[in-house]
Amino acid sequence: MSIFSGLEAFGVNTKKQQNIYDNGEAEREKELLEQKKKEEAEKAARKPTFTEEKDYLLQKDITCTVCGKKFKTFVVRNAKLRRSEPDYDLRPRFHNIDTLKYHVTSCPHCGYTALTEYFTGLTKGQIQLVRENIGRSFKSQDTLLPETYDYTTAIMRTKLALYNAVVKRGKTSERAYTCLKTYWLYRDHIQEVKEAGYSDFLEIDRLTTEMRDFAKEAYEGFQKAMAEEPLPICGMDSNTLEYLLACLGTEIKDYTHAARFLSDVITSKTTNSRLKDRALELKDKVLEEVNAAKNQV
Ligand SMILES: [Zn+2]
Repeated sequence: MSIFSGLEAFGVNTKKQQNIYDNGEAEREKELLEQKKKEEAEKAARKPTFTEEKDYLLQKDITCTVCGKKFKTFVVRNAKLRRSEPDYDLRPRFHNIDTLKYHVTSCPHCGYTALTEYFTGLTKGQIQLVRENIGRSFKSQDTLLPETYDYTTAIMRTKLALYNAVVKRGKTSERAYTCLKTYWLYRDHIQEVKEAGYSDFLEIDRLTTEMRDFAKEAYEGFQKAMAEEPLPICGMDSNTLEYLLACLGTEIKDYTHAARFLSDVITSKTTNSRLKDRALELKDKVLEEVNAAKNQV
């Protein structure tokens, strides 16, 4: 109860004066605080909002390693990204944008294309191979960038990166990694097609077969890379790589080997608890699928 309660009967507004010894400081402080809050809200409203894929993209000038011509490419504004939980097979996820669609750099003049991290650093021999096998017959592409890439475009660009990796005799891990990203892109493309209510089941079947082909190539490629190349491979240590192989093995129904990779991950002393939890979860899924397959026979 206020010390001045009852004085309302005299028509006096005592609400602002709750303290006998206060000369209005508390009220001014309150006003200042409210003013500050209002200014902050106005400032936040003036800031651009990042809600659409195009908001996260910038265009950057690049000089082609192979033909020396300039072109523009998309760069993702990493500082603006908000990470979400990755998929079960570690496919990265961010709010409002699928960054995977922008992982490829492609020269529209000569066709030299690679996952961005592999775009530079070619040897003279590799430049020659790309020029002879791709540049000579390549049909120049539009140099103007669209607002964003759709999955069909992103998949084609990643496939072109894979073809370049084969032509330039890139490392096995580069080829496998490019296959992995193509597989991931197909998966979202199929999801998008299904969500749009597309009822051409033959088309969905065709896309699913193509997706599995890339999963299979990534599966074989990473196993080959593990035998040939030092760790880390594409930023992955042995536990992460074996877990990824278990995921890919499950996708192509190679359950025996997938289970073996999983047990390596689960029993390894160096596996972190998050990865171990994921591996245990996948092990249950593998067992379920094996039992379901047995019951079908
Ligand atoms: Zn070029």
